[in-house]
Amino acid sequence: MAKTKGVKRTYSFGSGRAEGNKDMKELLGGKGAGLAEMSNNGIPVPAGFTITTEACTEFYAAGKRMPRGLEQEMHDALSRVESLTGKGFGDAGNPLLVSVRSGARVSMPGMMDTVLNLGLNDRTVEGLARRSGNDRFAWDSYRRFCAMFGDVVLGMKPERKEDRDPFEELLEAKKKTLGVKVDSELSVKALRELVAEFKAEIRARRKLEFPDDPFEQLRMAVSAVFRSWDNDRADAYRKLNGIPSDWGTAVTIQSMVFGNLGEDSGTGVAFTRNAATGENEFYGEFLVNAQGEDVVAGTRTPQKIGEMEARWPEMARQLEEVRTRLERHYRDMQDIEFTIERGRLYVLQTRTGKRTGLAAVRIAVEMADEKIISREEAVLRVEPESLNHVLRPIFDIAAKEAAIRAGRLLARGLPAGPGAACGRVVLFAEDAVAWKARGETVILARHETSPEDIRGMDAAAGFLTAFGGMTSHAALVARQMGKVAVVGCPVLSFDYQARTMTVATDQGPRVVREGDWISVDGLLGEVIEGKIPTQSSEVVGVLIDKTVKPAAAAMYRLFTRLLGWADGVRRLKVRANADQPDQARTAIAFGAQGIGLCRTEHMFFGEGKIGPMREMIVAENEAERRTALAKLLPLQREDFAGLFRAMGSRPVTIRTIDPPLHEFLPQDPAGQEELARATGRTLAQVQARIAELVESNPMLGNRGCRLGISYPEITEMQARAIFEAACEVAAEGVKPQPEVMIPLVGHWKELANQAKLVHEVAARVFAERKRKVKYSVGTMIEVPRGALTAGEIARTAEFFSFGTNDLTQTTFGISRDDVGTVLNAYVQKEIYSVDPFVTIDRDGVGVLMKIAIAAGRATRPGMKIGICGEHGGDPNSVEFCDALGLDYVSCSPYRLPIARLAAAQAVLKRRISERAMAKKPARKKPAKRRVVPR
Ligand code: ADP
Ligand code: MG
Ligand code: MG
Repeated sequence: MAKTKGVKRTYSFGSGRAEGNKDMKELLGGKGAGLAEMSNNGIPVPAGFTITTEACTEFYAAGKRMPRGLEQEMHDALSRVESLTGKGFGDAGNPLLVSVRSGARVSMPGMMDTVLNLGLNDRTVEGLARRSGNDRFAWDSYRRFCAMFGDVVLGMKPERKEDRDPFEELLEAKKKTLGVKVDSELSVKALRELVAEFKAEIRARRKLEFPDDPFEQLRMAVSAVFRSWDNDRADAYRKLNGIPSDWGTAVTIQSMVFGNLGEDSGTGVAFTRNAATGENEFYGEFLVNAQGEDVVAGTRTPQKIGEMEARWPEMARQLEEVRTRLERHYRDMQDIEFTIERGRLYVLQTRTGKRTGLAAVRIAVEMADEKIISREEAVLRVEPESLNHVLRPIFDIAAKEAAIRAGRLLARGLPAGPGAACGRVVLFAEDAVAWKARGETVILARHETSPEDIRGMDAAAGFLTAFGGMTSHAALVARQMGKVAVVGCPVLSFDYQARTMTVATDQGPRVVREGDWISVDGLLGEVIEGKIPTQSSEVVGVLIDKTVKPAAAAMYRLFTRLLGWADGVRRLKVRANADQPDQARTAIAFGAQGIGLCRTEHMFFGEGKIGPMREMIVAENEAERRTALAKLLPLQREDFAGLFRAMGSRPVTIRTIDPPLHEFLPQDPAGQEELARATGRTLAQVQARIAELVESNPMLGNRGCRLGISYPEITEMQARAIFEAACEVAAEGVKPQPEVMIPLVGHWKELANQAKLVHEVAARVFAERKRKVKYSVGTMIEVPRGALTAGEIARTAEFFSFGTNDLTQTTFGISRDDVGTVLNAYVQKEIYSVDPFVTIDRDGVGVLMKIAIAAGRATRPGMKIGICGEHGGDPNSVEFCDALGLDYVSCSPYRLPIARLAAAQAVLKRRISERAMAKKPARKKPAKRRVVPR
């Protein structure tokens, strides 16, 4: 604070000129910068000035005292406003009134509310009355000011819901005594009395005389805005949204314009395009003869902007012109606030408008078509994650809101599978299959799901679980199958015998029975009682269901064009994690350039396969195992042939068996007995074998390549199935590209052992079939030792694929199935800034990836490297993968469009930052090129 002299703390605007501009948000706040920018561009804005955020910081540094010199600057800035408006602050003849508005860099609820009509006192009110020729207006403004000043500046606004605003109470009492219903019926006399009563109330409660001196009013209001930066509500909001506490707020002081001067005045809010659909229409509301936030307060029903034409054609024309100019200027959809005073339009605020995913796509593409922005900018405008909104069915918004208001919200959990689904509750996978066969729509609700539920999950429209995080089994399957899911709702508990699900609520337990209807919102993580109507997504209708013709699907066409532009820019290829031909077809429709991960174990749960699989597992010697495997071979071969046919000449990465064997065995006694009978064993023998195989979290025992090493005949069978299938479809004229991937390798000899087997089988099959198919053998890098010794592994591996789910689990030493129990606390205490199972941990896991890539490519230059963990569909992780120089990302089919867009944005963002770096003056040392953006 040493140098108070020379620091500029106020920035004026008005009459087509301003000292600030839109790039000064840090100093002037969003609102102040917007007003300056509009002023510079000839948009009609009432004159005023903004006190900087730095002045706010000084205020705190000085122990919550006004920085020295600020008052003088405020005086000077006010004189400028006086001369621009021809009015005087405190001048009883022609008083200038102002509003005092807060404005941080980003819009922040919890900060001080706006004070309007400041500058009124017993003398200036008379001047206002004379000048406007409207006594009622003057006194109505005065009583509003007294109440706002009391509420906002003097802190008399009730904090708790049950408390009443003292000024509201006095107003109600007055209306009651006089027998009038609405405020506008109050006489001038009544309003005069109210002003006196309001001041008395302030005197009684705050032991303070209402300040008559306008400059004193202003000083108090400005310091109240500064102080509101640090109140509890604002502080809580800042913590939640990661806003630094040293930013401070700006204060804007602006001459009042009045929307409440009669039938030729009014106030309103509008979006320059429809924020829900993106349609290029002016969308908003206005109220005649009203002030400030009357529109949002909802006390009177406003009119649609479209209706202004009929009432005020000239105003409608001016407003339309402002709309076009603001959009052209900001090159984006704007959210504006305006006031009309006696037929003159003023804009009081403009900012980039919030929008739905649907609207984001439409606005971006249409603005590019209108040449307002470039196609590259259009690609950058859409949040990749928001494409979910375009792909998924959604609930009818009004119906859902009504349901929540009616108290039908049962639970909130993690939004694991976006979309909307409603159906009847079933608790068992078998029931899901059976009910679906009867034509019912069902939601599978369970404590958690496991691989043996897979067919039931396929039959269900959605899942709901009490346990597990964003990478739990249910979440993973939901994304892969494109199902709606909410997981991790701790308030749910299950009684499988009674077939009920109980929801713990504040009002006690609520029981949902099997067969009851529920609605699951996987976009917001909400579970609602009963049926809510849904709308299906047009894009899926065209691409997947083929129920909608592209010509009739405007949204589909916009979506395809945007992604087409993205595809033209991106460097990363995209692949899908898919194991069934229909998933593969979905993946291709969504733009997959290959399969990055086929989890063969999912196939074993298919029709007729689990029997021989279990037989193989309980076998006591190799001969028995081979007999069972021989039964699996033709089934598995068919699976692969189907996949190759669907994928044509695109690469298909097939992972050999990965999960521990106990996952394939029945957990219930009945199933175990049946297995004993089928395999000619006693129940005790079967149970003993299960006990031997069971693993507990995080399942790091006999799984992955270790299984193939203990039981080489399993790998042999899978390799044979792969190559026989490849030869089969090659004979049909398809050119398959199998990539055999060995999981969980940590030592090069593990891979060498398995790769040798695979090559031997390939040679044998090709000799038998008198046909050769191009293939490769590679590995997943998913344990730290694998990453650290990748150079050695690359001698054998022809490609790498990062299995970032396991790599995260093993790097952190935390099980992804259990992480849910600590994650909330960890995120809240900022130990993890994000869930590392959702977004790649760049500083830990990312470093291992870098090591593996460098070492792998040192051994094998140009080695193909991809990622197949769930992170492959996370925009932030995709950007990281692009910077690392991976060849492709692989993700669930329904996340492919998100990955395509994110991959394009990664390239564009890098170009922008490189361009910015090139512009900076050269330093002594050449700037090191950042390989990894932070
Ligand atoms: P918020 O941050 O809550 O949007 P604002 O500072 O934008 O608060 O003020 C809310 C409303 O008050 C504005 O939309 C406008 O209607 C009214 N208002 C603010 N300043 C003025 C002014 N100088 N003249 C007329 N109305 C104003
Ligand atoms: Mg506000
Ligand atoms: Mg506003």
